[in-house]
Amino acid sequence: MPYQLIALPCRTDNYIWLIHNDTHAWVIDPSLAAPVRNYIVRHNLILADILITHHHHDHVEGISELAPLVTGRIIGDSERIAGLTERVHAPCQLILSHSDIIVQVLPTAGHTFDHVSYYCPHLLQTGVLFCGDTLFSGGCGRIFDGTLQQLFDSFKRIMQLPDETQIACAHEYTEANLNFALAIQSSHLPTQNHLNQVKYARANGWASLPSTLAVEKRINPYCRAIMAPQDSDWKAGLKALAAQYAPDLGTIDVSEEDLAFSLFSLCRALKNRF
Ligand SMILES: [Zn+2]
Repeated sequence: MPYQLIALPCRTDNYIWLIHNDTHAWVIDPSLAAPVRNYIVRHNLILADILITHHHHDHVEGISELAPLVTGRIIGDSERIAGLTERVHAPCQLILSHSDIIVQVLPTAGHTFDHVSYYCPHLLQTGVLFCGDTLFSGGCGRIFDGTLQQLFDSFKRIMQLPDETQIACAHEYTEANLNFALAIQSSHLPTQNHLNQVKYARANGWASLPSTLAVEKRINPYCRAIMAPQDSDWKAGLKALAAQYAPDLGTIDVSEEDLAFSLFSLCRALKNRF
């Protein structure tokens, strides 16, 4: 039985990701226990492993109630996550219990200093990245106790993965993120088109996720900062937005090697005020 990838919506805008093969289930970031319990009971599944990206409450609060059902391991890379049964140290690789699912644990600090992401290169016909609150479709996570430099480095690491990689992030923020992206550059057709699709999906109650890395490279301002820092229309739009919302943030006319990081940082700072 091939693996299936399921997004379980919960709270206001969280997704719990669940992989199953009609026998076992593997769960990423159980924000709450109930959506997972409901799904595994309805589909008669055995809960194998739980993977955790970081310690924030909306990623871990289901752990204690689900722990008695776990037949494998509760895996994470932070002492701030209560209830782990296996502490890993990124970068590393593991195989999920009762399966042949290979998982590469990638260090993706920035949102928090000890955030990790889980990349399964052969899960579906493409690889899948569970990136928690690091890269959102059209955006990125806020900086809590990590640094902008860490987040920038994490984006660069993620962008090394194959373009077809499916991006399974933990929040439905896509529409707001794309509205911000269009505030930077309203004429950007790929972003306009993607926002139309996302609005249609959301109006029908569908998730806008998973995205793909190829899509993110076209529409995500933070990916675009890294890939094409010399895009003059986009850079001009960012400058104009900065002048309107954040004149105190200073100039972005910096040396070539720092340009991508400056644009990335300015995007993140402006989004906080947008
Ligand atoms: Zn978080």
